[in-house]
Amino acid sequence: MERKQVIKIFRSVVKELGIEGVKIRITPMKRKVASFSFKTKTLRLNCNIIDLLNKEQLKFIIFHELIHFKVRDINHRSKFHEELEKYYDKGSVTTC
Ligand SMILES: [Zn+2]
Repeated sequence: MERKQVIKIFRSVVKELGIEGVKIRITPMKRKVASFSFKTKTLRLNCNIIDLLNKEQLKFIIFHELIHFKVRDINHRSKFHEELEKYYDKGSVTTC
């Protein structure tokens, strides 16, 4: 998938979640698919995976990372899951 298209997905998720001021960096990462930095308000997405996943899968990863920002918590506590379940049915996805 082209970076341009990934950025388009990112923007649509930002809009859907009603958040502001976050950035995306598509960059090589050794051990992770994606991560979010509260310090720089930047979602880092591993450039090596964007050709391996389809649009829905990428969208879910972006959703996951940006929900960390929305609930202001880098962990996966109940608040995180409650927010995620507003957009994705409980049971249809697993988080780790
Ligand atoms: Zn997470």
